[in-house]
Amino acid sequence: AVVLGIETSCDETGVGIVADGRILGAALASSMGQHARFGGVVPEIAARAHLESLVPCLRSAMEQARIEPSEIDAIAVTSGPGLATALQTGLAAAKSLALGWDRPLYGVHHLAGHVAADTLEHGPLPDRSIALIVSGGHTSLLLIDDLATDPIVHLGDTRDDAAGEAFDKVARLLGLPYPGGPSVSRAAAAGDPDAIAFPRAMLGHGYDFSFSGLKSAVARRVEQHPGLSVPDVAASFQEAVADVLTRKAVAACLEHGIDTLVIVGGVAANARLRALAAERCAASGITLRVPPPALCTDNGPMIAAVGDLLVTAGHPPATLDLSADPSAPLTKAVCS
Ligand code: ATP
Ligand code: MG
Ligand code: FE
Repeated sequence: AVVLGIETSCDETGVGIVADGRILGAALASSMGQHARFGGVVPEIAARAHLESLVPCLRSAMEQARIEPSEIDAIAVTSGPGLATALQTGLAAAKSLALGWDRPLYGVHHLAGHVAADTLEHGPLPDRSIALIVSGGHTSLLLIDDLATDPIVHLGDTRDDAAGEAFDKVARLLGLPYPGGPSVSRAAAAGDPDAIAFPRAMLGHGYDFSFSGLKSAVARRVEQHPGLSVPDVAASFQEAVADVLTRKAVAACLEHGIDTLVIVGGVAANARLRALAAERCAASGITLRVPPPALCTDNGPMIAAVGDLLVTAGHPPATLDLSADPSAPLTKAVCS
């Protein structure tokens, strides 16, 4: 199916056009820079930026895809989770298009979008896979059957901070620029990952995660050692995160007899996480799938990809009273 997808859950405005699992066109705008001086995303600023960017992104994705509205089969939009006012801008745009073009509308769960992003690079997922979602607001280890039709099983979740949130907070502690993930990873490149033995929380305790103790350990270290090496702290912190994430993900695959691990979400862009996951998956005979970095962070095509799967599965569309669900739990790919 040919599906137009709209993503506005946080600070990225994404529009993507996907045809049968392939990206035809994509456009992305970000208000990230406008939030930098506040140290985090300001919902009102994000919502206004989406309003300004949606039409230009839509135009640009359509031009790139060289496609007419009549060739689009369905509209998909992130309906949750995310910032309420930000989600509403995307929903309003998607409903207008669905109404104006007389096409079915699908509300998509943002995190299912992150998982589906990988199918745009590596093709359909196998019948069963383990997915590790590591993003700015979520950290979950999931058992995925058919992403479009089956319930999503949570093997574990974070009990406090998300992995991306930990990167963002540690960046602030180290005086590194916002957003934290990329800047911690850059600083870590010049550091020694074994310099400091930071705690690996919850190892050996099932598949839940905890990162707030690690963040506090970094804070204590910074307080007690004013002259410390920022690259060493960054590298040691990053190693602790990558170690716990990959150990648990590989253990989940082995326990459930599943030979495919897919790692998605913004933190999956992290080079050290990718390398360690590749090493440990290879050692355990697990096929690792990680999307290219641009498909790890928020984007439009990932939402279109879920829409494509839903249309193909014959899933009934949403009605025009589809509303935003800012804290939607991840139980299935549709979010309505
Ligand atoms: P969610 O998907 O949970 O709603 P979000 O959409 O804000 O949250 P994403 O866009 O998936 O999150 O990812 C953003 C997060 O990824 C941020 O926390 C950012 O610091 C982190 N991140 C991005 N690049 C990297 C990197 N190279 N290394 C580590 N973390 C990174
Ligand atoms: Mg973002
Ligand atoms: Fe996201």
